[in-house]
Amino acid sequence: MSADPTYGFDTLQIHAGARPDPATGARQVPIYQTTAYVFRDADHAAALFNLQEVGYIYSRLTNPTVAALQERVATLEGGAGAVCCSSGHAAQLMALFPLMAPGMNVVASSRLYGGTVTQFSQTIKRFGWSATFVDFDDHDAVKAAIDDNTRAVFCEAIANPGGHITDLDTISAISDEAGIPLIVDNTSATPYLCRPIEHGATLVVHSTTKYLTGNGTVTGGCVVDSGKFDWAANDKFPSLSEPEPAYHGLKFAETFGPLAFTFHGIAIGLRDLGMTMNPQAAHYTLMGIETLSLRMDRHVENAMKVAKWLEDDPRTDYVTYAGLPSSPYAKLVPKICPKGAGALFTVAVKGGYDACVKLVDSLEIFSHVANLGDTRSLIIHSASTTHRQLTAEQQEAAGAGPGIVRLSIGIEDADDLIADLDQALAKATA
Ligand SMILES: *Cc1c(COP(=O)(O)O)cnc(C)c1O
Repeated sequence: MSADPTYGFDTLQIHAGARPDPATGARQVPIYQTTAYVFRDADHAAALFNLQEVGYIYSRLTNPTVAALQERVATLEGGAGAVCCSSGHAAQLMALFPLMAPGMNVVASSRLYGGTVTQFSQTIKRFGWSATFVDFDDHDAVKAAIDDNTRAVFCEAIANPGGHITDLDTISAISDEAGIPLIVDNTSATPYLCRPIEHGATLVVHSTTKYLTGNGTVTGGCVVDSGKFDWAANDKFPSLSEPEPAYHGLKFAETFGPLAFTFHGIAIGLRDLGMTMNPQAAHYTLMGIETLSLRMDRHVENAMKVAKWLEDDPRTDYVTYAGLPSSPYAKLVPKICPKGAGALFTVAVKGGYDACVKLVDSLEIFSHVANLGDTRSLIIHSASTTHRQLTAEQQEAAGAGPGIVRLSIGIEDADDLIADLDQALAKATA
């Protein structure tokens, strides 16, 4: 450990995982731009390949720059370990892969990033997996959706696109009772606003592409393991509890204990699926994380100002920001994300689809992009873009109907953002 895990968040976001380089003393984490690592001798190589010794073999599995990021995100989330990978979508597959098998299902919230709805409702079928989508505000429905073949429950802490807050304590109590892990996508909240493991999450996944990097430069993902789930408690998770033929019958749960999921993610997941994060991406994300708390405080402050202004404006019908006292989710904010409700929400514009499209085209500071969590303010009309592949019912269930736009509020001057929205709303609703 490079930094005492009891240090405060602001200290850990800079120091966790980062040691002076042992060869040069370099203070910033170097970009280890190498594919392979020289073994000390044949015995050393054999021990590494047998997982008897931890070390670097080949950068599809492990790389020192990426390892620094893994340790930093794991520390900030309060997890036992983490595995970084090439994107947020890769992280979701890496999280599900050890748990699922043909015929198994994941119970997922209907309020998810549009790409996740598509990944879960369409693409995972090719593996023989399936997803059951339910409204996670309806706790009885979540309970009822879990069956003998359910291997995970999946939701977002602050849910895309509306910024709705999920009651993680209640959801994790349900998954605990069923003996299955809860996976929380913490992309929109970040560990600064929400710490899902403290609310019972087993695994936390991130698109590091978003707030963790924070500047819209690289794609990346991360799976953090709480280290708290007993994979051998029943026979549902044989990849982790049973002998692994590709490692001479090694049992991950028995051998690695709280690090079983992390070791499996590297030794099987990255080795065989190959969705590896590259060291350049890890470097950009490490630099981004150094200012995470400062940026998130400003994101939240700006989101509150902009959301209040939009809610009071007669050209809008409603604003979904959970930080507003009018939000049905406002009561969950102090419990789930005590430092603020994030900076992602939707606004319903009077005039429907056409007004939304005109608004997007008329803004000057806001960028029209399929991204979120940038220092820059961003806007997208979900129904014609990120949620375009969804049916009308799925769009409504996801909170991405035709008459709403999604805003990701950046860290610019709030007054400038409001003035930009004011002039664009004038054009959109003229
Ligand atoms: C962007 C995003 C993803 C997917 O991440 P990529 O890095 O784009 O693959 C998953 N979940 C949420 C909440 C996201 O915002």
